[in-house]
Amino acid sequence: MFLGSIRQRITAWYFLSLILILLAVSIFWYLILSHTLILQIDKSLQETADIVEIGHLQQLGVIDAEQACAILEVYSYSQDWLGYVQLRDPAGNLACIIQGVNGAPLPFSAEAQKSVQSGVAHYETESEFSSFPIRILSVPIYRQKEIVRVLQVGQSSFGVQQILSDLRAISFFLSPIVVLMLTAFGWFLAGKVLSPIVDITATAQKITAEKLNRRLPVSEADDEIAQLAQTFNLMLARLEESFLRIRQFSGDASHELRTPLAIIKGETEVALRWAKNEAELRMALESNLEEIDRMERIVSDLLSLARSDESKLHLDIASFSLTDLLQDIWMSGKVLAEQSGHTVHLDHAVTSEIYINGDQLQLYRVMINILTNALKYTPAGGRIDIRLSVQDECALIQLSDTGLGIAPEELPHIFERFYRIDSARNRDQGGTGLGLAIVKAIVAAHDGTVSVASVVGQGSTFSISLPLSGPVLKI
Ligand code: ADP
Repeated sequence: MFLGSIRQRITAWYFLSLILILLAVSIFWYLILSHTLILQIDKSLQETADIVEIGHLQQLGVIDAEQACAILEVYSYSQDWLGYVQLRDPAGNLACIIQGVNGAPLPFSAEAQKSVQSGVAHYETESEFSSFPIRILSVPIYRQKEIVRVLQVGQSSFGVQQILSDLRAISFFLSPIVVLMLTAFGWFLAGKVLSPIVDITATAQKITAEKLNRRLPVSEADDEIAQLAQTFNLMLARLEESFLRIRQFSGDASHELRTPLAIIKGETEVALRWAKNEAELRMALESNLEEIDRMERIVSDLLSLARSDESKLHLDIASFSLTDLLQDIWMSGKVLAEQSGHTVHLDHAVTSEIYINGDQLQLYRVMINILTNALKYTPAGGRIDIRLSVQDECALIQLSDTGLGIAPEELPHIFERFYRIDSARNRDQGGTGLGLAIVKAIVAAHDGTVSVASVVGQGSTFSISLPLSGPVLKI
């Protein structure tokens, strides 16, 4: 389509603006020039009129038209007047022609007559009178405040008209050439400016979900287009990372779900083929139920994480006693620790009760996840400490254990989804690798932070910091 591309549109605008500017500038200078040239003629007419008037009519006091004409005629031989000079009486009748156009008198228009009779000098350009235009000045000549004569001086403005018509002709022929040349230059310039965008488009068209590792070309100049390309590249990098994470996540998720499914299938097949009595069938069903429970846990954990990804994790924010919540966790911990032989201690570093704005149930889930991990990864007889303190308007909850600890290279990953250290052993302990990812999501939804410090063989400390005022509402 015509004017479809930005390059075409820029050039079209450039072309139109050029014409308008050129037209305005030409008209402006043409008017200034013609005005200046006419002014020059008028000035010279005025000078001639002054000489005639002051020198030889007023000063000599000549009142008789014939005498005046005779004196002026003699006088004109000694002067170098360029134009025409003639005298009229106040009524407009010609008195004499001192210098004329082929012997014919200069015309005296009705406006000139009116203006002179009211005492004002009058300039006009007469084009019909001869083969070339003549500029005429008509001035009244006074004697004792009475108009006694009208002096008319004239000069051909042929030179001026010639200059102006030459100028018009030159502009007429040159302007289209200049406009065309500048438009071609504009077209070239627009193409040059837009060429990085063309390159970017060509590369961008080749980028698909499978080729997200490709990047747009960034020009060396740090201009707007380079910044646009850089921004796109950063966006592509983020997209690539998200794609990779989604791919890994869905791979991990299907793997995690496939394992219990395979177990259920295997056990069901074995039971159907070999089970001899109801007790054996029941055993298989119970085992299946365990796996179904596990699958249910994975699916509900995935759902929580998916919701937190979309910032749809529903929080029931209310003020509640964090001191009471940790008391409950401690009690649960003690019950859980009974079988494993751990000891669980609660140490309130604050004397008064601490209230916080948050979702009590979700925060209970956070603490219980960390506590069960501590129990899982601490050998029997180990010690678990729960601490609560307040720092800078934030509640600081710390859960320490004397367990296996986590190697420094594993630390940055343990909050990732499905990340498990020694996954084979972990699976036996029922871990899905989603617990800490959920902890992180819930704490983040409360505008808090979670971190871990650990020494292999000595134990780990998980620290959760939560603003006492609760999360800032996101609209
Ligand atoms: P899981 O459900 O497998 O426990 P998590 O996300 O809760 O998954 O934990 C991720 C990994 O971090 C675990 O596999 C475990 O190896 C490690 N981990 C978590 N808590 C502790 C801890 N208190 N001591 C040692 N290792 C831990």
